[in-house]
Parts: sequence; structure tokens; C-alpha cells
Amino acid sequence: MSTSSPRGTRIAHIGLAVESIERILPFYRDILGMPEVPLNNEDGALITGLAAGDSLVELLQPQVSDSPIGRFLTKRGQGIHHICFAVDDLEGTLARCKAAGLRLIDEVPRKGAEGKRIAFLHPSSTAGVLVEFTEY
Ligand code: ZN
Repeated sequence: MSTSSPRGTRIAHIGLAVESIERILPFYRDILGMPEVPLNNEDGALITGLAAGDSLVELLQPQVSDSPIGRFLTKRGQGIHHICFAVDDLEGTLARCKAAGLRLIDEVPRKGAEGKRIAFLHPSSTAGVLVEFTEY
């Protein structure tokens, strides 16, 4: 048990690449009853958040094909784009990843949506999952 994570790592959100938010929204909002959470659009994508307890599902629809989500859709099709973990110590987590030889997309945290600092790991280091870290 690590003492460096007093609050513990939790899933902040799961980002889903979708062709049309409008088409899939009724499933999450109406059938599953997940409340919509307003989020800023980022990186050439329309983003709709849906609350699942303390975690979010983020529907990511490209506004242009030449954007990270647009390129992902072209290459891989719809599905899970990334998983974001909230961690207690973003710098410490990145340092541990680096020390373990994992491939970091962001060596230092950058400003993400909603002004929080984020960093990504390359999926080649994490069994094919694009991992994002954010702070609490
Ligand atoms: Zn994210």
C-alpha cells in the first residue's frame, strides 16, 4: 500500500470517440439516467460530459477530421479513446512512470480542459490504452 496516495487513484473520466453525440446521448442520458455535465469543447472536439457517480463519461465528437479525435475515428472507429485517472500527486506519478520506463506523451503536465493540469501516457506503454492523468 503506497502512502503517496492518501485519496487514492480514481477514474476521473472515460473518453469515448463518437461520430455523433446526438445519436448516442439518449442511451447515457435517458436510458441510464446520467446527468449531463457542461464541459468546454477542446482540441477540435465537441465534448459532452455525463456523470456516473464521481466519474464522467465524456462523449468526444470531432468538429474537424484533422483533429486528435477525428484521426482516431478514421483509424480505429468509434470506441474508448482514453481513460483518465485522477491522482494525488501528478508530478510524482509522472516521475514514477518515467522511472519505470513508460513512454510519456507529456513529460510535464499541461493545461487541459476546465483549467486542470493533465498529462498523457503513450498507449504502447500501457497495454494499448491511452492513459490521461489529472489532479483532483
Ligand atoms: Zn480526457
